[in-house]
Amino acid sequence: MSSTEQQAARGGAWLVEETDPLSVMTPEKLTDEHRLIGQTAAEFVTAEVLPVLDRLEQKDWALNRQLVAHCGALGLLGVNVPEAYGGVNLDKISTLVVSEQISRSASFGATFGAQANLTITPIYMFGTDAQKERYLPGLVSGEVVGAYCLSESGSGSDALGAKSRATRQADGSFVLSGEKMWITNGGFADLFIIFAKVDGDQFTAFIVERGWDGVTVGREEHKMGLHGSSTVPVILQDVRVPADAVLGEIGKGHKVAFNVLNFGRFKLGAMCSGGGRAAMAEAAKYASGRKQFGVPIGSFGAIKHKLGEMTSRQYALESMMYRTAGLIDAHIDAAPGRQANDGTPMLQALEEFAVEASIAKVLGSEVLDYILDENVQIHGGNGFVKDYPAEGHYRDARVNRIFEGTNEINRLLIPGMLVKKALKGELPLMAAARALQDEIMSPSLPAGGDADGALADERRAVIAFKKVVLLIAGSAMERYGEKMQDEQEVLSYLADILIDAYASESSVLRATAARAGAASNAHRHEDAARVFVSEAAGRIELAARNALAAMVEGDALRIQLAALRRLLKAPPVNTVALRRCLAEEVMARGGYPF
Ligand SMILES: Cc1cc2nc3c(=O)[nH]c(=O)nc-3n(C[C@H](O)[C@H](O)[C@H](O)COP(=O)(O)OP(=O)(O)OC[C@H]3O[C@@H](n4cnc5c(N)ncnc54)[C@H](O)[C@@H]3O)c2cc1C
Repeated sequence: MSSTEQQAARGGAWLVEETDPLSVMTPEKLTDEHRLIGQTAAEFVTAEVLPVLDRLEQKDWALNRQLVAHCGALGLLGVNVPEAYGGVNLDKISTLVVSEQISRSASFGATFGAQANLTITPIYMFGTDAQKERYLPGLVSGEVVGAYCLSESGSGSDALGAKSRATRQADGSFVLSGEKMWITNGGFADLFIIFAKVDGDQFTAFIVERGWDGVTVGREEHKMGLHGSSTVPVILQDVRVPADAVLGEIGKGHKVAFNVLNFGRFKLGAMCSGGGRAAMAEAAKYASGRKQFGVPIGSFGAIKHKLGEMTSRQYALESMMYRTAGLIDAHIDAAPGRQANDGTPMLQALEEFAVEASIAKVLGSEVLDYILDENVQIHGGNGFVKDYPAEGHYRDARVNRIFEGTNEINRLLIPGMLVKKALKGELPLMAAARALQDEIMSPSLPAGGDADGALADERRAVIAFKKVVLLIAGSAMERYGEKMQDEQEVLSYLADILIDAYASESSVLRATAARAGAASNAHRHEDAARVFVSEAAGRIELAARNALAAMVEGDALRIQLAALRRLLKAPPVNTVALRRCLAEEVMARGGYPF
């Protein structure tokens, strides 16, 4: 990593700063080490998981446990864990590469995620040395299986509203009672991270072993998808828990819960990216092989449109994921006095990039749903029956918009966290919003940037997208002040604009880097980026108009709408032709072409 990248490694900074395309992490920059761990994960899924999906779906939990242990033996569970605890201590790009591969089985991906992200991560980041020594080696080797118990029947999104209680005893131990819902891996886990309130209001995380008296699990839920993953209630009846089972600090359980979710959201984005890429291979194969009216359906413009659009959205998601992983790694690398076994730099980096993690979760789950829905459509009737995998993928993916914080909650968090950073003086958002207002009032609003050459219009568009963020955020802060959090519709529009701005910029940066590196397929990178930016411009304009109309009236509204039009003014792009080129590449290569 160059020093420029390390200096730039601040969450949200992309919004108010320009980024050098050559400093950005992209899939094209993967090292041999990254490729090797990715290949290990790919071979494991191909050889060990995909052939036994039916047995997993029949709830063969012994087999699931064997697969977890196999993953552990290959080093896949301890990618981010120091060697002292049995891990392989690689960077977040490696985590991303592994998650992309594991996601080719969504059910096993959920099992893996509950172990690696939701159990190992909190113990590594918040555990005492004794807790890490006691639990991490078994979890990282996969001999011990973990589960994460935050949700309850009455508190999902409102996780801090949990009713589970931890009553302090005279000897310092606790007695836990309560019922947790929808717990992934619960049916066969040995260890649970449980959240409960000490003395009625101090939300706290505990490590609870399955063997302790009073821990039981309920029956498996009958789910829409993910049939090969265990989801059960976990019941705690007067469970005696020693004092040293507290994870983190008493009353600071929210820090554990929210930071684990930050990592979980980033990794869910990675899983969705891997799932999208894999589904595109199925779509390409079917579009090439299936004939109607005497020709392959992939030769029809309507199908090419789908394959081209899938490619451009997948490209944007993937570009954004690698960029974010690079930023997180740069932040960790830059941590002063970093100690090998200390989880603090990782914790700080995840907090720093919480906005980007939420963006990854929302964009990832929605791009994947788009791809899987169109994959069903390309398969026609065969997409609706179980003989083809398209049907199962479609069902399995639906939960991605629900867990790890619903997409509604994440949409509220994205602008909310940015505004908080601005108010704390960590991000010069207010100054940038004020400068934009001056610009708007000037007779000739600058077009934004002096870009020329390939992707010049797209680079200008990205600058404009960020200004639209400032325009809407500035109006919202002025209109609502501290009551902004009550205006969920406006916040959600703002989140949509932010997501499109970050994804567009990530696409353009990657395509620019591909051109600068003289990649042989640089023109295809540019095609994908151009389609995404063109579509994003339309979505952004609509979202911004709706938000402005909700906040401003009369002349002020007219001025803001005129500014919006001037900002987003761009020459039309022949996206039909670009999507056709992308689709032909998809069919020629039998899948996602990058
Ligand atoms: C297969 C599966 C596996 C899971 N695994 C785990 C696990 O391992 N551990 C765990 O702890 N939990 C797990 N969960 C639970 C999951 O995290 C919750 O379902 C999720 O957080 C949503 O909570 P809820 O279901 O109570 O929905 P609710 O919170 O009731 O939400 C219902 C709807 O209301 C919306 N909503 C709620 N509050 C607001 C608000 N303030 N503003 C706007 N809209 C709002 C939501 O976005 C949603 O659309 C799992 C769930 C499933 C289905």
